Amino acid sequence: MAENIGILGSGLIGRSWAMLFAGAGYKVRLFDIEPKQVQSALKDIEVQLNELERSKLIRGSRSAKEQISLISGTSSLQECVSGALLVQECTPEFLDIKLKALKELDAVVQEPTIISSSTSTHLPSVLSKDLKNKERFIVSHPVNPPYYVKLVEIVPAPYTASWVPPKVRAIMEQLGQVPVSLKKEVPGFSLNRIQYVILNEAWRQVEDGVLDVADVDKVMSEGLGPRYAFLGALEVAHLNAEGMANYCERYAPTIHSVSETIGPIPHLLNETHKTIHKQLCEVTPLDKLQERRQWRDACLTKLSVLKQEM
Ligand code: NAD
Repeated sequence: MAENIGILGSGLIGRSWAMLFAGAGYKVRLFDIEPKQVQSALKDIEVQLNELERSKLIRGSRSAKEQISLISGTSSLQECVSGALLVQECTPEFLDIKLKALKELDAVVQEPTIISSSTSTHLPSVLSKDLKNKERFIVSHPVNPPYYVKLVEIVPAPYTASWVPPKVRAIMEQLGQVPVSLKKEVPGFSLNRIQYVILNEAWRQVEDGVLDVADVDKVMSEGLGPRYAFLGALEVAHLNAEGMANYCERYAPTIHSVSETIGPIPHLLNETHKTIHKQLCEVTPLDKLQERRQWRDACLTKLSVLKQEM
């Protein structure tokens, strides 16, 4: 018999999780504080899964019809979580909303259900320290759009029971996602810490008059980005010499001396943000953002197909 998954919050991310869990054969129950949201989520999921099937991009071995039949909505939080293997919390990223939602969830959830949060920014200990079920709390942070970008950061709180992280990792692998297991919580987890280092340096290069906005973004999209789509920073270095030890012997002094010239953390709300905003609007005007997002998602879809084939 299919195991149950509860989804709390049926917005953008809740819908994606519902499709991923159904793709792996789980029975999914969606709950939202706004009952209308659940209805629109169910309709949207049906459209999306049928379209994915038509374009041969559907995940899992089941048909769209079978996957749709595994997803239902409920107006009862109790029913959403009852007997669930895992409940994925997908409420908005405001701390007060999350704490309230998690408190309500905590009151109805029973052992051994895992409480997993999609939060992008809040530390697991901040979200769960007052929960009575906090030993079964963990963060599973997806990347948008999760259907095509498979990384999931699994982040335990200091008191998360030792069986929970490997169990959640195994579930994510079963969905076809690519989990990474942080051994401890750190602000920004891993992805955003790396992303912020890149953002800060791109910002400094514009601020210091080294490159303009369009060109500094090409350094990523036409230079570093293509190989980073397949290899991480450490393996890139390993391949750029005769192994990492040799890379360090060759390049460590240069890397160190260049790194010493990297400036302080920029304040993103200083005058430079107006310049960067203006130049970005020349590349993508504000009324074309949605079009550009659709293009980005189409690129990511093609990339995920390519990665599958490699
Ligand atoms: P969203 O605003 O699209 O959806 C949130 C949903 O939660 C809404 O339908 C809302 O009605 C519902 N909700 C609010 N309070 C609730 C409650 N108490 N109980 C049940 N439902 C409630 O948000 P989203 O973009 O789907 O983001 C959800 C989470 O996923 C956030 O923590 C966000 O940081 C994380 N996340 C988002 C992205 C992204 O790119 N959107 C990427 C990774 C992670």
